[in-house]
Amino acid sequence: MYGVLEMIGENGVICSEQEMNFIEKFAHTTGAALENAKLHEQLEQVIEDVKLINETSHKLNSSLRLDDTIHYMTEKILPFFMLKVLVFFSVITNDKYKILEGSTELFFQTKNKPYIDKIYKKINREKESKFINDTDTLFGEKFPYRSLIALPMIHNNKMFGLVLIVHVKPYFFIFNHYRVLQSLVHHSTLAFTNSILREELESLVVTDHLTKLYSRSYLDEQIQQSIERDKLGSLLLLDIDNFKQVNDTYGHQTGDQVIIQVASIIKNNLRDGNIGARWGGEELAVYLPNVPQHIAVSIAQRLVAEVHKETVPHTTVSCGVSSWERGEKSAHRLFIKADKALYQAKNNGKNQVVKSCEK
Ligand code: GH3
Ligand code: MG
Ligand code: MG
Repeated sequence: MYGVLEMIGENGVICSEQEMNFIEKFAHTTGAALENAKLHEQLEQVIEDVKLINETSHKLNSSLRLDDTIHYMTEKILPFFMLKVLVFFSVITNDKYKILEGSTELFFQTKNKPYIDKIYKKINREKESKFINDTDTLFGEKFPYRSLIALPMIHNNKMFGLVLIVHVKPYFFIFNHYRVLQSLVHHSTLAFTNSILREELESLVVTDHLTKLYSRSYLDEQIQQSIERDKLGSLLLLDIDNFKQVNDTYGHQTGDQVIIQVASIIKNNLRDGNIGARWGGEELAVYLPNVPQHIAVSIAQRLVAEVHKETVPHTTVSCGVSSWERGEKSAHRLFIKADKALYQAKNNGKNQVVKSCEK
């Protein structure tokens, strides 16, 4: 029944059979029209939902970085509700979770941690999606967020992540939101899991595949250890000059060969205990424990000169040098200083060494 058609006449007026027939037919036709309109509306909603899910899974299959995956999902989920809804993503290693960047501010606040802990534990134990209209009934205590949708990302029986959407008002979400989000999360779980596994793998890898130099994460680790163990040390950050042009002129494969050549020059100049690493694409780094800045600068100058002399096709590098002495606490600052010096070397015309003057 879509509605009621009511006709009111004056006292004593009785409809003829013909009139009754007409009214009945009229009511049926109106009912059918209403039904069509209703179905049409529902269909449009379903089409919108399917579009969202399709678009998202398509995009996620093409981009693999965890950051990108999360930002994309947040971008899709928030406007879907057309309201200020709160989203949370977490990666799970064993029994711990980590709130990922891209999550709404609320989830980073310490005062909310006990609630999030509780929800996390429950979902991790039961490994089921939850659609809860009033959290009072669930946790038996006062939660500041009364409506909750929790969607675990499960792959091979392991929970890799969790999407949590909460709201302070009870009965805030409608079931359709839950349904579509469930589908969305289901479709993105594989991309999400892949990103996590890939990034875990990257951090475990010690050597860089192309250059056979050490990886960036290994370098980070070694510098941190040296800062805790040694008295001083220096870092060289090298960046190939106009490398984009090398790729554009000779192709990517030749580009790779140039990176390998520069890496070999570095390797040939290393002594025991020195660490040569691939910092990024065409950026290489050398860490020299117990080597003071003036010696580090002369080593850097030798490297820059050799690259200039020996690479084919002819290439040059720029280099920033930074050093630390007792009292330094973070490897990160050492990188920042070297990076600034490198930037200076580029600005001064490339193919040269600049040392950081910052203490
Ligand atoms: P600059 O002198 O200022 O450093 O200029 P540049 O062209 O070297 O700098 P830019 O950072 O613009 O370009 C670096 C290029 O290196 C862009 C990227 O495509 C390329 N690249 C990064 N990693 C690799 C790689 O592993 N192999 C190859 N062939 N190219 C890479
Ligand atoms: Mg670069
Ligand atoms: Mg470069």
